Amino acid sequence: MALLKKLTQAFGPSGNEDAVRDIIIEEITPYADEYSVDTLGNLIVRKKGTGKKLMLCAHMDEIGVIATVVDDKKFVHFSGIGGVKVSALHQNKVVFANGEVGVVAEKSEKPTKVSDLYIDVLLDCKADNLYNISVGDVAVYDGKYDENGGFVSSKALDDRVGCYILIEVLKQIEKTDNDLYFVFSVQEELGLRGAKTAAFGISPDYAVAVDVTPCDDVPGGGKYPLKLGGGPAIKVKDGSVICHPRVKKLLEQAAKTGRVAVQYEVLDKGGTDAGAIHTSGAGVATGALSVPVRYLHTPCETASIADIEGAVTVLKSVCSEAL
Ligand SMILES: [Zn+2]
Repeated sequence: MALLKKLTQAFGPSGNEDAVRDIIIEEITPYADEYSVDTLGNLIVRKKGTGKKLMLCAHMDEIGVIATVVDDKKFVHFSGIGGVKVSALHQNKVVFANGEVGVVAEKSEKPTKVSDLYIDVLLDCKADNLYNISVGDVAVYDGKYDENGGFVSSKALDDRVGCYILIEVLKQIEKTDNDLYFVFSVQEELGLRGAKTAAFGISPDYAVAVDVTPCDDVPGGGKYPLKLGGGPAIKVKDGSVICHPRVKKLLEQAAKTGRVAVQYEVLDKGGTDAGAIHTSGAGVATGALSVPVRYLHTPCETASIADIEGAVTVLKSVCSEAL
């Protein structure tokens, strides 16, 4: 899973997806008929066909933080980019674009909000430092990639695992009539922004978003019924979409064809790119396939390699089916 490692370790908070996009362009170039980058930064990769337009979408951006004030002692005050958790930031490290590492510490004894925290970038305010952090600079969790048995753990599996799956599908796909668009979207974590403009530009006949979904089959858990290693999850609904029954059925058929066990995802809250895609233009039949992840939105998001491979198999089959 060297490619997944490379993707997760790339720096890419929402609005700063360039490094991730560069890795993907390098990977897809030998397999794509054409690709383009739109105004917002979405990477749109095409495998041409004469049939219906199918859009597969995974987001490149990850959650992060942004410096709001750098005080005279060089402590960095910040706010979140997307759903960062106080518990996951506190006493952990973050990395800025220039590689500068900061320790996240608390201003009050029991921090409950991001504004209760600050970043200590360990800069001597009197020294003429080589690096400096300014207001507006962004950082991400410092979360290294580990592979252990059949599992992977890293920052930004949300949603580099989706990017990895799309790249693998493109590499492995056999000839199909469908006109395939692989979209690597920007700014999902801030409200599905990139997918909205990408879907408008492509105007697909149907679409599948590929993202992660929470599972907490752990001690003290059980809030989400999905199991790690139980197979990729076919989304039924979340806070942004009720998946189109025909696309849901297509995913079910594809799973059956590929002999992949699947689970079903029903979430009250949250959203994925499917939410933006299905309401674009005059409406797009949209579904979603999710990789179950433990410890979502932390530096150690954890997924099962079998679930990831299962998702590749299902989507490869979807690519050769007509809706
Ligand atoms: Zn995501």
